Amino acid sequence: MACACSGGKTNLIYACSGAANTGFLADQVARQLMKENIGSMTCLAGIGANLSGFIASAEGADRNIVIDGCPVACGKKQFEARGIPFDHFVMTNYGVEKNKTAITGDIIVDISNKVASAITEKVCSLN
Ligand code: SF4
Repeated sequence: MACACSGGKTNLIYACSGAANTGFLADQVARQLMKENIGSMTCLAGIGANLSGFIASAEGADRNIVIDGCPVACGKKQFEARGIPFDHFVMTNYGVEKNKTAITGDIIVDISNKVASAITEKVCSLN
């Protein structure tokens, strides 16, 4: 589900990729979104480490899409701390429970589709 009006190539996607099932889901959703040309996945750890190249890329992106596994929101906090704009998605808002829900391929595809729809609706409404 690529966005027809922006091409999606200047969207950068970050996943918390945490150890919990929800962090794994965030990672898998980010990779699925990249496969669907919603944007390019890059490293949240690079932002956390204050590496200049990652910060510059985030500041220059059309959109930064931050996918966190749970409301602890590790990714969100990294962007907020640096004042870089972002769109935020939290996997536990999609019916999965941290440390409980088994992450299946169907769940990954279903939530990826929902996040992709939310992103493309927002991008297209701005064009
Ligand atoms: S947002 Fe939640 S799942 Fe992701 S790294 Fe932080 S604590 Fe772990």
